Amino acid sequence: MFDPKTLARQNILDLRPYSSARDEFTGDAEVFLDANENAFGSPDEMALNRYPDPLQRELKQALAERHGIAPGSIFVGNGSDEAIDLLIRIFCTPGRDEIVICPPTYGMYRVAADVNDVKVREIPLTAKFALDVDLILESMRTATKLIFLCSPNNPTGNALDTDEILRLAASVNALVVVDEAYGDFYEGKSLIGLIPQYPNLVILRTLSKAFGLAAARVGLAFADPVIISLLNKAKPPYNVSGLSQQAAIHAVREIGSVMRTVAQIRTERERLRAELTLLSVVESVFPSDANFLLVRFADAKAVYGELLTHKIVVRDRSREHGCHNCLRITVGTLDENERLLEAIRNYSRRTKAE
Ligand SMILES: *Cc1c(COP(=O)(O)O)cnc(C)c1O
Repeated sequence: MFDPKTLARQNILDLRPYSSARDEFTGDAEVFLDANENAFGSPDEMALNRYPDPLQRELKQALAERHGIAPGSIFVGNGSDEAIDLLIRIFCTPGRDEIVICPPTYGMYRVAADVNDVKVREIPLTAKFALDVDLILESMRTATKLIFLCSPNNPTGNALDTDEILRLAASVNALVVVDEAYGDFYEGKSLIGLIPQYPNLVILRTLSKAFGLAAARVGLAFADPVIISLLNKAKPPYNVSGLSQQAAIHAVREIGSVMRTVAQIRTERERLRAELTLLSVVESVFPSDANFLLVRFADAKAVYGELLTHKIVVRDRSREHGCHNCLRITVGTLDENERLLEAIRNYSRRTKAE
């Protein structure tokens, strides 16, 4: 039976976490003189003078209902970047342990490992951007504590094969962290529901993409309650602001309107794909389960510069593993996508004429 505590650092297991005023008292009081707040209120009548709930209980309740999982299996962070950093700090001893990542992928896994002086082992995705589970299994060592997978993957856009992820999870004595930042755009199933059967799975989600709350910085981790309690132990006590919790609760309750924009973005994504495919400067548009397209051009640098002259900025990913001459283009509004297409069409015509 897998026990996450056998993987965690001893100093974290031994840690006595900071106990905040709101941790020590949560009952039904009327006069709060326990946290050195300003009882006279805050400017602008915004009522921000009280510390927020350190465990984000109302938000977790809403999320638990949405995902059909207990609140005790949910961690809320200051963006999913906080969850990534905490996982590395809790499970990897600096200078000794390591993580596995599968490039091309999200850049924060490596940055968070580098900050913590934790080694990074790279097992690239295949030419078709699929997971190479056998190669990962061959490379596993006792020092390998975390495997970061991203599905749908950033910057390639494709979801990874679920059976392969689960085959990996079932075969390793390490945490398999699946970053589902783009999961709301994917028509396949989330892995959140499989946590009871795979206690070494950690699923990351964020409200920064589909939910339109990037500025609020709210990220989520779903995992076995033992892992969640370690995350809660190591996090700063008030890691998610009251404003952000309110915005997040509202968004999760308005899931219907969120999913309507998700459907619009998907429709726009496929229209964008069809239009881009017609252009001679476009070599290929990779399949996408997310809200962006990875596009290979004859000359990505030239297209990037050309778009900038039209005040359109995309992401140059051409230096990433397996992504030569590739730009990552986020799906925008109808008008924005038209501006983008018009700029590339013009460039395409000019290039042909030369
Ligand atoms: C955008 C993104 C995130 C989001 O991080 P936040 O800190 O929650 O904004 C996480 N993972 C991936 C792969 C992303 O692309």
